[in-house]
Amino acid sequence: MGITRRMLFLLGLLASALHPAPTALAGGHGGWKAGLAKVVITPERPMWMAGYGNRTAPSEGTLHDIWAKALALEDAEETRGLLITLDLCGIDRDFSMGVRREIAHRHEISLDRIVLACSHTHTSPVVGSNLITMYPLDDEQRKRVESYTELLGETIVGLAGEAIEDLSEVHLSWGRGEAGFAVNRRENVQDRAEELREAMALKGPVDHDVPVLVLRAGDEVRGVVFGYACHCTTLSINHFSGDYAGFAMMELEREYPEATALFVAGCGADQNPLPRRSVELAEKYGKKLAGAVKRTVKGHLRPILGGLQSAYGETDLAFAPVPDRSHWEREAESETFAVANRARAFLGRLDRGETLPGSYPYPVQVWRLGGLTWIFLGGEVVVDYALRIKRNLGPDTFVSAYCNDVMAYIPSLRVLEEGGYEGETAMIYYGQPGPWAEDVEERVIAEVNRLVRKVGGGPGS
Ligand SMILES: [Zn+2]
Repeated sequence: MGITRRMLFLLGLLASALHPAPTALAGGHGGWKAGLAKVVITPERPMWMAGYGNRTAPSEGTLHDIWAKALALEDAEETRGLLITLDLCGIDRDFSMGVRREIAHRHEISLDRIVLACSHTHTSPVVGSNLITMYPLDDEQRKRVESYTELLGETIVGLAGEAIEDLSEVHLSWGRGEAGFAVNRRENVQDRAEELREAMALKGPVDHDVPVLVLRAGDEVRGVVFGYACHCTTLSINHFSGDYAGFAMMELEREYPEATALFVAGCGADQNPLPRRSVELAEKYGKKLAGAVKRTVKGHLRPILGGLQSAYGETDLAFAPVPDRSHWEREAESETFAVANRARAFLGRLDRGETLPGSYPYPVQVWRLGGLTWIFLGGEVVVDYALRIKRNLGPDTFVSAYCNDVMAYIPSLRVLEEGGYEGETAMIYYGQPGPWAEDVEERVIAEVNRLVRKVGGGPGS
């Protein structure tokens, strides 16, 4: 008996029933499942606070709790991803790799599908060795950082498991709002920001997009993930808080009582919320950001259909030529604490016969959720990167920074050549041996491009 055209048609039907297109599943929800979990990570004891080098005492209390939050996603093919957001200034590579590997091992999720994202709030505790060069810690404070870091790692691993257990069907959609409080801090005098804004005279590149990922079960919002490219530095007080991002998440969780709100920082390394330095302003910016998210949730959202593709890579970012021993011997005598501290650490390494590193393994991660390309960059990334990436990849692009490892600022070539804090001197506080080499921007972009193509995206896709 020969195979007839009709038999081929029936075989085709059978095959499509066995391998349904994800978009055709269960009433058009795209086959997505999501699970959410959150836990307070506010230290129980006074601790040294992160982000500023001029604090002279540990924390004195809590303005509002800081959180770790987890979103587990599972597509129709049962491919899982885990995004964990942390109301923290930064985390180092060893901590991040340890936690991600443990989650990968326990939950059988590959590293490219696990992201740790920091909000960069400057009213959070010091974690691990992040920015450790600039803090005048005594032995007791050092021990507190160590024990907090250890407990935090265990807490995050447990939280990942809770989010996975919570997996249930959701509609996934995506949209973009706008909020205008981020000001380019390199181009505008901080104290004149209000006056400059009034006069329409603010200068410099900004990224005012508010990317929003919405998870709905029926009509109910179960989760919102949102981003903004601006330093979490409204506050410099000695009380723990999530700064404006913390206020925004609180506002959104009030608005959607069944939801968990997760903030992911964008490429805001050269952006500050201006004016700043009061709790009222932090709350005001939080409400503005939450307002942009709410309008987006109510407005035009595009459904995310299709599955999760992911890729992770590390590209070696070269430092400018590292000075020799005599340079560090001179710097060890500096009256500036961080300069001398870094030099002493390097001299110790040279004494032990080690060489100072000539490059750093910089992490880039890309998720493709249906037609949305989501890029997670390590470090404090200046706004030029987000603008360049979105200009080339188009509007369905979500660019996040401070992810997986906050090892340094990542200046564009423009900012590197201009020098200043983000291009040069911040490297002291991060304990790195000098500024990046001139190809830093091209190396980062090349890695982004390589990974975006790997997950099926790319310019014009
Ligand atoms: Zn910063």
